[in-house]
Amino acid sequence: MSATFPPLREELQGVEPYGAPQLSLEQVPVQLNVNENPYGPSPEAAADIARAVGEAAVRLNRYPDREFTALREGLAAYLNTSGGSGITPAMVWAANGSNEVMLQLLQAFGGPGRCALSFAPTYSMYPEYARDAMTEWVTGHRAEDFALDLDAARALVLERRPSVVLLPSPNNPTGTALPPEAVTVLCEAAASYEPGGLVVVDEAYGEFRRTGTPSALELLPRHRNLVVSRTMSKAFALAGARLGYLAADPAICDAIRVVRLPYHLSAVTQATALAALRHAPELLGRVEELRAERDRTVEWLRGRGHEVADSDANFVLFGRFADRHAVWQGLVDRGVLIRETGPDGWLRVSIGTPAEMAAFRDALTDVMEETG
Ligand code: PMP
Repeated sequence: MSATFPPLREELQGVEPYGAPQLSLEQVPVQLNVNENPYGPSPEAAADIARAVGEAAVRLNRYPDREFTALREGLAAYLNTSGGSGITPAMVWAANGSNEVMLQLLQAFGGPGRCALSFAPTYSMYPEYARDAMTEWVTGHRAEDFALDLDAARALVLERRPSVVLLPSPNNPTGTALPPEAVTVLCEAAASYEPGGLVVVDEAYGEFRRTGTPSALELLPRHRNLVVSRTMSKAFALAGARLGYLAADPAICDAIRVVRLPYHLSAVTQATALAALRHAPELLGRVEELRAERDRTVEWLRGRGHEVADSDANFVLFGRFADRHAVWQGLVDRGVLIRETGPDGWLRVSIGTPAEMAAFRDALTDVMEETG
């Protein structure tokens, strides 16, 4: 037996699996750490999902529809009510969470000899997709206020000629949304070299954007290399179902079929997502409340003298703390779990129910008094 067992790829040795600390509700009753929607489906939506899954259950001896035709139709129709227009089922692709959607994009369009690029601070899974798809990872940097310096971003794209540019909007963990000009400039830059790059606007939190912030879906008719990714995990309150999707040129969706595993979307997942889409207005009904609660949280934190990043998402990045871990731990000790992520000195809190946010405010006030 060799000294290294199991014989893991060299670059994976010693790497910790990605994930926020998982503490039980008994340990920490207020969980504001993974940007979930705090409101579960209504009893009617849950019953309809259960009925749809029950109908799927009697056919589980058969593989599911590999092309998830009905689900693509449902997602296209939804996107056309959520910032898009003219999106057809052939322009939609879906997988088990937008994490899988983006991994598939890197598998199909990245690979050895190619690179993928994003701008830090940003979602920490991106380099992992690149690593897993044997794609070089290149990072540019955001400005002090976490916006993109467009000239510098464009110059970096032209210099490195990435196959895939990942642009979350709103960005995680900062909450910063991108103006449409930024998407246009980077799509044009990535289309200016051979064979060109895709620009993936990751709108996992797109539904939470503030009034006046447009979705990149509007730009799809103008840029053949634009991909807009969404998820049912956040605004749709369906993180447990694992359903992410994208809208893009049909040729891009078609190409992803080469790398997807056959039948990657189970019949149970398809039935669940379709039933959820039938209840879209109700599942999304809490988005307004969450946006208002987010704005109140930003105001409260600023009122307490904290620095707070503008947020178009269902979370808020705030700081700065000389010892952020001590603050995080102080909150955990008071029953509130938030996320120690982002640039040094900052912490991220997901927006919960009013009662959960009151618990967060009380706990933070207490911790700040204690730590001075
Ligand atoms: N993109 C961003 C920016 C995220 O923050 C997340 C989840 N935290 C995802 C994608 C992936 O979400 P999911 O796989 O649940 O769709």
